[in-house]
Amino acid sequence: MMLSRVSSLLGSSATRCTPMASARFMGFDLTDTQREIQATALKFSKEQLAPVAAKYDESGEFPWPLIKQAHELGLMNPMIPEKYGGPGMSNLETVLIVEALAYGCSGIQLCIMASGPSLAIAPVYLAGNDEQKKKYLGLLANEPAIASYCVTEPQAGSDVNGVKTRAVKKGDEWVINGTKMWITGGGHAKWFFVLARTAEDPKAPAGKAFTAFIVDGDTPGITRGKKERNMGQRCGDTRMITFEDVRVPAKNVLGKEGSGFKIAMGAFDLTRPAVAAGALGIMWRAIDESTKYSLERKTFGTPIAGHQAVQFMLADMAVNLELSRLITYKAAVDADNGIKSSYYASIAKCFAADKANEAAANAVQIFGGAGFNCEYPVEKLMRDAKIYQIYEGTSQIQRMVISRTLLEMFKQNGTCRT
Ligand SMILES: Cc1cc2nc3c(=O)[nH]c(=O)nc-3n(C[C@H](O)[C@H](O)[C@H](O)COP(=O)(O)OP(=O)(O)OC[C@H]3O[C@@H](n4cnc5c(N)ncnc54)[C@H](O)[C@@H]3O)c2cc1C
Repeated sequence: MMLSRVSSLLGSSATRCTPMASARFMGFDLTDTQREIQATALKFSKEQLAPVAAKYDESGEFPWPLIKQAHELGLMNPMIPEKYGGPGMSNLETVLIVEALAYGCSGIQLCIMASGPSLAIAPVYLAGNDEQKKKYLGLLANEPAIASYCVTEPQAGSDVNGVKTRAVKKGDEWVINGTKMWITGGGHAKWFFVLARTAEDPKAPAGKAFTAFIVDGDTPGITRGKKERNMGQRCGDTRMITFEDVRVPAKNVLGKEGSGFKIAMGAFDLTRPAVAAGALGIMWRAIDESTKYSLERKTFGTPIAGHQAVQFMLADMAVNLELSRLITYKAAVDADNGIKSSYYASIAKCFAADKANEAAANAVQIFGGAGFNCEYPVEKLMRDAKIYQIYEGTSQIQRMVISRTLLEMFKQNGTCRT
């Protein structure tokens, strides 16, 4: 059955219940529009993604047919403003879509959503000028295309200040040299967000040492490495990208020279709620699969759902899913309301990632021997869940952000309440 295009649900921006309006008061209900967006994404996810999830996991093939369908439905790059041809959805609506897609397959979800909300788009959204937005967001709005975020390097992941890629100004151009690692969508990207060191002084503070660039994917000097073989989300396309004397016009600098670190880090406030939402989708699926199985599988003459030990695992999964949802939606609504939300975005990403891993491991436990077998869906959930504790800042890095903020809060207000 054909699904309606999501943008038709949104109506004109004048008649929409904006997140700003709906979020002014404490409220836990989604609007009718948000429910419809969620239902559309979930239907697509259950009908199109879930049935082929194992196939793409096995082959590692990039799921172009599904990416094209998602784009047609208006589910891809949902946050690109209408002004640039995108669906113009809020962060919360984006989170609802990511959660629903990850329910069917978080690997395919990553391929559909890796450019935006996850990372490449966010810096352009935050710091791009109108011309850059028109060109680079417009490109992603118009076609099912991919963009990538290039920050991590072989020797610099958590410690972004250790980035060695250099950009040197020559006339009206910048020349970039360096190697980026683990770049999602790297094999297909039409353009890259690239963070490079531009300060001459090796002791320059991070806030002044780096500049952010948009680099066209077909610029000479870019080499895309082999597709990496990963533990989970195997249809995802992760590669090393090498920049060798890559010439970028000065007009492709994002924001000001020297402001790259702030732009690259600022993007996380927008994207971490969506990453948390991917973990929510895995948790949600783990509960559904486990509940179904525990009602069917019998031991000692009764469905295993009748054993308290199994019930408690299901209860813990439910507790953690509900709490993860609340904090993820809150972080998303904060981002929509322009409230600086690094603290909540990190709590959401950290908590949802850890709890998705717990839920997936418990799903495997509830399935017993079948849980360990690739013919059943839960071992993939466990493999796919792990990456949520690693990319877009490891769980340790999230705890650093959280503890830094709460220590600061306490020093200022004598309490840790925001
Ligand atoms: C599948 C995949 C996709 C990715 N996609 C992208 C992408 O599109 N773009 C991009 O730029 N990057 C991407 N990354 C990179 C990812 O963000 C990094 O792997 C991650 O930030 C961790 O960096 P690292 O691997 O260098 O680990 P390290 O930084 O070397 O960390 C190793 C371990 O030490 C811990 N650690 C480090 N410092 C501290 C500290 N101060 N305190 C406590 N513990 C610490 C870490 O938590 C981790 O457990 C991707 C990675 C993977 C695996």
